[in-house]
Amino acid sequence: MKLKSYWLDTAVPFSSAANGAPEGEADVAVVGAGFTGLAAALALARKGARVVVLEAGRVASAASGRNGGHCNNGFAQDYYAMSMKLGVERAKALYRAFDAGVDKVEAIVTEERIDCHFKRVGKLKLAAKPEHYDRLARSQALMAEQADPDTRMVPRRELRAEIGSDAYYGGLIFEKSAAMHVGKFGQGLAEAAARRGALIFENCPMVGLRRLAGHRHEVRTPKSRFRARQILLATGTSAVGPLGWFRRRIVPVGAFIIATEPLPLDLLDRLTPRRRNTTDTRNFVNYFRTTADHRLLFGGRARFATSNSLSDMKSGAILRKSMVRVFPELADVRIDYCWGGMVDMTRDRLPRAGEHNGLYYSMGYSGHGTQMSTLMGGIMADVIDGRVDLNPLRDFDWPAIPGHFGWPWFLPLVGAYYRYRDLVS
Ligand SMILES: Cc1cc2nc3c(=O)[nH]c(=O)nc-3n(C[C@H](O)[C@H](O)[C@H](O)COP(=O)(O)OP(=O)(O)OC[C@H]3O[C@@H](n4cnc5c(N)ncnc54)[C@H](O)[C@@H]3O)c2cc1C
Repeated sequence: MKLKSYWLDTAVPFSSAANGAPEGEADVAVVGAGFTGLAAALALARKGARVVVLEAGRVASAASGRNGGHCNNGFAQDYYAMSMKLGVERAKALYRAFDAGVDKVEAIVTEERIDCHFKRVGKLKLAAKPEHYDRLARSQALMAEQADPDTRMVPRRELRAEIGSDAYYGGLIFEKSAAMHVGKFGQGLAEAAARRGALIFENCPMVGLRRLAGHRHEVRTPKSRFRARQILLATGTSAVGPLGWFRRRIVPVGAFIIATEPLPLDLLDRLTPRRRNTTDTRNFVNYFRTTADHRLLFGGRARFATSNSLSDMKSGAILRKSMVRVFPELADVRIDYCWGGMVDMTRDRLPRAGEHNGLYYSMGYSGHGTQMSTLMGGIMADVIDGRVDLNPLRDFDWPAIPGHFGWPWFLPLVGAYYRYRDLVS
C-alpha cells in the first residue's frame, strides 16, 4: 500500500517551476500554489500582471492534490438550515457561487486544454438514518424553488438504481456536480499559469512580510527578498510564515482517503452504476467515487486528528471498515493507496476572502473547496484590480475562534461531540 495521494502519484509533475530565488519587483506576490493561488496567478497573468507565486512545498501537493476529487455544486451544508441562518437572498447568492465554481473549473479545463477527466457525473447525498431523508427532502424542496431545479430525491425503494448497498435510506441528487482528477487539474493549472508568464517558485516559503511606503510590501523567503505591490495569501492551513491572524480563524483538521486496487467493471456497475460523487449525512462523513482506472476511492473524517503517516494509516483502517459496512462485497479487496490531508475549517464552515491590513486572502473552504478555491482565485485577481464588488464573500465577518491560537488542541473534544451527535440525531 502506498502512503501517498493517488492523484499526485498518477499525474505528471509540474515541470515549469522558476529557477533560483525570486528577486526584484512584482505586481502581485501570490503565497501558496494550491487551486486558489494557481487560479489567481493564471487570472492575474492573463491580465498582464507580473506575478510571482511562492510555494512552500510542491505545486498543488497540499489539500488541492490530496482531496476526494469531488467538484460539487451547491452547499455541503443543509440548504434549509443555511437559508434560515443567512436569509434567502444570501443563501441563494452563496449557493450560486458554488455553482459558478464548477462552471469556472470547467471553463479553465476547456480553455487551457487540461486533460483531467472532468465530467458532470452528479452528486448523490445519502441519508444515513430515516429521519435524515426527511431533512434532505425538506432542503431539496426549498433548493428546487430558490436555487437549484437540477436536484431531486431518490426514495429508498429506488436507491438500487444509484448504489448497490442497503446501508442508506434514500438520497438527494445534485445533477450539476462534477468529478475530476485533481492531480492532473492542479499540474495543468500550474502549467497554464506558467505559460502565461507567472513565475512559480517551489520549495520556496514566504517566511517574512514587511509593509513598505507607497502600499508596497517586502517579501522574505529563506534565500531572497523581493518587493510586491500586492500580496494574495492562498495558504490554506499554513503553519509557515507570519500568518497568526489567519491561524486564529482556521482550524486545521485531518481528512483521510483510501483507494482500492482496480476493480472488475461488473462489480463497479453494481456498486455505483452511475459513477456519481457520493457522500452521506453523518458528521463523521463518508464519501466515495470511482477513478478512470476503476478503483473505488473512499474517504471520510474517520477521526478528528491531524494528518501524518501514522495517523493516515490508523484512519485508513477505520475507513476500510466503513467501506465494507457500505459494500460487504469489498471485504477482500486490496487497498493500494492511503493518505490524508489538512482541511482549512472555519467555525461556520464557510470560506472567507477579502483584505486584512493591506493583505488580500482567500481560504477556509472547510472541505468543500475544489470549485470555490478555483473560482475565488480568479475573483481575487479582479478584487486586487479594484472590483471588490465581485467578491461573493465580502460581507461575511470573520471573528477569531476563542481559545484557538493555531494548534487545534480541542479536536478530540470536537470529535467526541460529533460522535455523540451522530448517535442521537
Ligand atoms: C483529504 C481531503 C479531502 C477533500 N475532499 C474534497 C472534495 O472531495 N471536494 C472538495 O470540494 N473539496 C475537498 N477538499 C478541500 C479542497 O481540497 C480544498 O478546499 C482546496 O484544495 C483548497 O485549495 P487552496 O489552494 O486554498 O489550499 P491548498 O491546496 O492547501 O494550498 C495551500 C498552499 O499554500 C502553501 N503555503 C502555505 N503557507 C505558505 C507559505 N508561508 N509560503 C509559501 N507557500 C505556503 C502550502 O504549501 C499549500 O501548497 C478536501 C481536502 C482534503 C484535505
